[in-house]
Amino acid sequence: MKPFEKCPICGGELKNKQVEKLLRVEGNTVSMKVTAEVCLHCGERLYTEDVVKSFEEIRSKLRKQEFSHFKTLGQSFTVEESWPNEAIHPTR
Ligand SMILES: [Zn+2]
Repeated sequence: MKPFEKCPICGGELKNKQVEKLLRVEGNTVSMKVTAEVCLHCGERLYTEDVVKSFEEIRSKLRKQEFSHFKTLGQSFTVEESWPNEAIHPTR
C-alpha cells in the first residue's frame, strides 16, 4: 500500500527510493538511509508517519545525549578558536 499517490506540493509522480537523511541536534549528526517517496518533478521527499516518528525519536535521543542504537561513523570536528587564520572560526 502506498501512503501517498501524488506529490502534495506539485502533483508530480512519486517514486519509492532510498534517500540519505541527516538529522542534526546540537552539534551531533546522525546519518541514515531511509525509504521515502520522492517526487520526480520537484524532488520533495515524503516519509511515512512511522518514519517521521522515528526521526522525532532520534532527535529526542540526541537532545538527551542518549546514544544507544547509534554507532559512530567517523568523527565530527570543528576548528579551535585559536586557529591561525582570522577568517576561520569554529561553528559553535
Ligand atoms: Zn513535487
